[in-house]
Amino acid sequence: MILTNDAKSCGSAEGEMETRNQSQIVRVPLGRANAYFVISEGQALLIDTGTKRNEQKIVQALGNLGLSPSNIRLIILTHTHYDHCGSLKALKDMTGARIVVHHNEATCLREGYGGFPKGTTRLTKAISLIGRTMGKRMGGYDPVSPDITIRERFGLKEYGTDGYILPTPGHTAGSMSVIIHNRYAIVGDTLFNVFRKSLFPPFADDEEELLRSWEKLYDTACRSFYPGHGNSFEIDKFRQSLETGKKRKAKASAK
Ligand SMILES: [Zn+2]
Repeated sequence: MILTNDAKSCGSAEGEMETRNQSQIVRVPLGRANAYFVISEGQALLIDTGTKRNEQKIVQALGNLGLSPSNIRLIILTHTHYDHCGSLKALKDMTGARIVVHHNEATCLREGYGGFPKGTTRLTKAISLIGRTMGKRMGGYDPVSPDITIRERFGLKEYGTDGYILPTPGHTAGSMSVIIHNRYAIVGDTLFNVFRKSLFPPFADDEEELLRSWEKLYDTACRSFYPGHGNSFEIDKFRQSLETGKKRKAKASAK
C-alpha cells in the first residue's frame, strides 16, 4: 500500500509524501523544477537543488519533516543543468553533505555550467539555439567540486537507503535516476511530466540514447516515477509513452 500525504513545505510550495517500508519520498516543488528527499531512519538524501536561491525553501521543507540540514548526508544530482544545481553550493555549505554526480558531468559542476541541451521539437530547437548563445549568463551557477563521481550503478545502502543510482543518459550524457525499494524511480529530466500524453523531454542531447535509458528504466520494474518537472505518475503512462517513443524512433530510422 502507498500512503500519500500532503505536507506543507513552505510558502506556496507544497510537498508530497509517500511512505513505503522505512523510506519516504518527499517532493519539494520549487517553481521551475522539483527537488526530492528520500528519508530513511531520520537521515535524508537530497536529489537535485532547484535554481539559485532555492536553498531556504528546501531547508524549510526539511524542517517541516522534523529534520535539519545536518541530517542530509548525500546530495545526488540527476544532471548538471542550472534548474537542478542552482542552490547546490549554498546547500553544500549548509549541510556538509557529500555530492554525487556522474563522471561525464563532473567538469560541468566544477565550472558551474551544465550547457544547454538540444531541442527535441521545432520550437525547443529554436529555444536551444538562443540558450546556447546566452551560455553561462543564463545557465550558470556557483561551481562545486563533487565528492563522488560515478560511471555505473551506485548502491545507497551505506547511506541507510534500500536503493541505488542508475545512469540513464540521453537528456544529458551524465543523467542519472535514483531507484528506491525497486519500486520508485526519481528520474530528473529523463521523463518529463508536463504534457498530457507524452513523457518525452522537450530537450535531449541524444534522443536514441534517451530511449535506451527509458527501456532500462522500464526494466527496473519500478511502478511510480518522480520527475524533475511535473507531478509523479504511474507505470501505465510510462508504458504508453515508451511505445510512442519506439514508433517515433522506427519512423525516424526508416527515413
Ligand atoms: Zn535538464
